[in-house]
Amino acid sequence: MGDHTRIVVVGASLAGIRAVQTLRSEGYAGELSLVGAEPHLPYNRPPLSKNVLTGDDDVALPGGDQFDAAWLGGRRAVRLDTTGRAVVLDDGSELAYDGLVIATGARPRRLPEDQMALTGVHVLRTIDDAKALRAALARDPRQVVVIGGGFIGGEVASAVRAQGMDVTLIESGPLPMIGVVGREVAEWLAEHHRRNGVDLVTGVRANRLEGGPDGRIAAVQLSDGRSIPADLLIAGLGVEPNTEWLDGSDVQVQDGVLTDDKLFALGFPDIVAAGDVARWPHRIFGDEPVRVEHWANANEQGASAARNLLRGPAGAEPFVEVAGLGTRVHGKRVQWAGFPSLADQGTIVAGSVEESKFAVAFSRDGVLVGAATVNYPKELNRLRGMIAAGADQPAPA
Ligand SMILES: Cc1cc2nc3c(=O)[nH]c(=O)nc-3n(C[C@H](O)[C@H](O)[C@H](O)COP(=O)(O)OP(=O)(O)OC[C@H]3O[C@@H](n4cnc5c(N)ncnc54)[C@H](O)[C@@H]3O)c2cc1C
Repeated sequence: MGDHTRIVVVGASLAGIRAVQTLRSEGYAGELSLVGAEPHLPYNRPPLSKNVLTGDDDVALPGGDQFDAAWLGGRRAVRLDTTGRAVVLDDGSELAYDGLVIATGARPRRLPEDQMALTGVHVLRTIDDAKALRAALARDPRQVVVIGGGFIGGEVASAVRAQGMDVTLIESGPLPMIGVVGREVAEWLAEHHRRNGVDLVTGVRANRLEGGPDGRIAAVQLSDGRSIPADLLIAGLGVEPNTEWLDGSDVQVQDGVLTDDKLFALGFPDIVAAGDVARWPHRIFGDEPVRVEHWANANEQGASAARNLLRGPAGAEPFVEVAGLGTRVHGKRVQWAGFPSLADQGTIVAGSVEESKFAVAFSRDGVLVGAATVNYPKELNRLRGMIAAGADQPAPA
C-alpha cells in the first residue's frame, strides 16, 4: 500500500464513484476529493435512453449518494499541473494531490454549432439532456429523426416507437452497429428496427440540418440529395473523451488518456485513468491500446485503477477484464464482449437468427477475440469467459 495522503478523483460518474468507494474499502484514510462538472451526485446513464425517456426517473447508482469524500459538484477541472501536483478548478482554486484518478468520461460529438442551436435538436448524455428530450417528445412531434444507428441512436429510436411516434433512423454505414457487433447481429438489428416500424435509412450521411423561419429544425439534407422533414432531431454521433483540461500537461492523450496496462497514465506513477476516458493496452487484443465506452468497463476499471494507485506500479495488476456490454432495442437484448471488429472470422455458435436468439463468436487467427449475442445472455457470458481465457474459436451451431 502506498503512502498517499491527498487523492483527487476528477469526474463524478461511474468510474469516479467506483474509484472513491474502492479507495476507502481498500483502507485509504487520507483526504479524498471528488470533482464533478455536473451539479448532480453520480447517477446511472443507461436508463437515460431507456426508462427516463418513457417516464421513469430512477437513475440511482448503487452508493452514488453515499461516499466518504469531499464533494465538489458543479466544479470543472480546467488544468492539470503535474509538476506542482495540483488540479486547477474553474473558480481558480487548486487541489493539491499525491494521487490522481482521471475519470472524466466522454461527451457526445456535436454537429456544427449553428445547427445544434436550432430548436428541436438534441444530444443525449446527461440527465438534463434526457429530461429536455422527454419534454420535447411530450409535445408530440410529427417527424422525429435520429442521426446515428449506434447504441444511443438505436435506443432512442426504440423509445420513440414505444410512444407510438414515427421515427427515421439515419445510419451512414451499411448496417447499424456493424463495427461493434459484426455483420450477423447488425443484419438482424436492421430487420428488427424495420419490423418495429423504424424507417431505417442506411449508407447515407446527414449533410446539413435546415431550420425554418422560426428557428426550429425543419429538415435534414442527406448525402444522396434527399431532404427529410424533421421537427425533432437527436444526434447520436458517438462520443469523444473529455481530455481538454489535460492540454499543456505532460499527460499523453490520443483519443483518450494513454495508460500502461495497469491504468497508470504513461510516465506517471501517481496518476491513473479509468472508464470512457482511458485508453490502455489489453493483452488479449494486441498491441493497439483500446478504449471502451460502456458501463461494465467503467465500473470495473474505476475500482481497478484505484487499487493500482494505492499499490503503486510495482504492486499493481494489469487490467485484463473482458467486459460484457449491451443495449436493449424494442424489448430485445443485444450484447457483446471483446472486439468483433478485430476478427477475421465470425460464426454463429448457438441459437438461430430466425428465433431472434443467437450467439456469434469472432476469432482472429483461430483465437477468440469477440462475441455478440441477441437475447442470449447465458451464451454471452460463456463466450466472454472463453475470450478471457484465450480460447480457440468454438464449433459452428
Ligand atoms: C444515454 C446513455 C445510455 C447508455 N446505455 C448503456 C448501456 O445500456 N450499456 C452500457 O454498457 N453502457 C451504456 N452507456 C455508457 C455508460 O453509461 C458509460 O460507459 C459510463 O457512464 C462511463 O462512465 P465514466 O465514469 O467513465 O464517464 P461518464 O459517465 O462520461 O462521466 C464522466 C463525468 O466526468 C465529468 N467531467 C468531464 N470533464 C470534467 C472536468 N474537466 N472536470 C470535472 N468533471 C468532468 C462529466 O461531467 C461526467 O459527469 C450509456 C450511456 C449513455 C449516455
